Amino acid sequence: EQNVNNIKQEYVKLFQSENKLLPFTWIVVRIDGSHFHRFSEVQGFEKPNDEQALKLMNSCAVAILEEFDGIVFAYGVSDEYSFVLKKNTQLYQRRDSEIVSAVVSFFSSTYVIKWKEYFPKKELKYPPNFDGRAVCYPSYEIIRDYLAWRQVDCHINNQYNTCFWMLVKSGKSTREAQSLLKGTQAQEKNQMLSQLFGIDYSMLPIIFRNGSSVFFKEMMVTDNGFVANSQKKVVVEHPNIIEDGFWEAYALY
Ligand code: ATP
Ligand code: ATP
Ligand code: MG
Ligand code: MG
Ligand code: MG
Ligand code: MG
Repeated sequence: EQNVNNIKQEYVKLFQSENKLLPFTWIVVRIDGSHFHRFSEVQGFEKPNDEQALKLMNSCAVAILEEFDGIVFAYGVSDEYSFVLKKNTQLYQRRDSEIVSAVVSFFSSTYVIKWKEYFPKKELKYPPNFDGRAVCYPSYEIIRDYLAWRQVDCHINNQYNTCFWMLVKSGKSTREAQSLLKGTQAQEKNQMLSQLFGIDYSMLPIIFRNGSSVFFKEMMVTDNGFVANSQKKVVVEHPNIIEDGFWEAYALY
């Protein structure tokens, strides 16, 4: 009888804790493919950069910005994407687990649905999953530093991976390639690419070197050749987001 009373009072609800993200801070939800080293092998991604796989990620990010209110910018590289929510967003009343789980599950299901659009000849071998986390950044400087950190990481990894895979494709074992690259500086890697393989790093596709940024842009929409009106559209571009230039034209409200 005691038990039945307790259940009626729904006391079990009291065990749920609500973790709200700090108010007036930029929220970054970063998602990352789980075990994509393996996934990319199983699916036969081109190495070091499969452009179709990156475009699939980008199109999922576009869908996220179109779906959720309050996401104002996204930056992606490899199997990860960072979504920046505006400071005063009230999405899910800023509840941490709801925001993260909704974003990460929408991203994953979109990835699976759009797969055949980007890989019409490749069967999806197993359901991929992504993990996600939310972090609050209290100032404009820090959110800018966060994004710069991700793009610096993109540069460093891409340079390493480009060298590594050129060495492997030229016949070196993975161990040999690793030891040749150990401790090398950026400049040495660029020299290696140009001297051994005739590759000018700065000429590689910008999507590989800079990663991808997704944001809203005012676009003129034409109707029968006439300018009808201007609309905000979600676009994918590959700007330098470390320096100030891009941010002088785009504000993270
Ligand atoms: P974790 O589950 O810890 O994230 P992971 O295997 O996903 O492990 P990451 O550090 O996230 O490791 O690295 C992602 C890996 O996925 C890269 O090292 C690369 O091998 C592969 N990968 C992701 N995107 C691409 C792509 N577009 N082209 C080729 N390989 C890719
Ligand atoms: P929220 O995003 O807040 O969860 P919701 O619309 O998903 O909103 P829920 O309280 O989760 O609301 O209720 C789920 C609703 O989904 C039900 O009210 C019902 O209309 C519908 N639904 C779920 N499963 C089934 C099912 N198997 N058959 C018919 N309807 C279903
Ligand atoms: Mg991970
Ligand atoms: Mg990963
Ligand atoms: Mg990753
Ligand atoms: Mg719900």
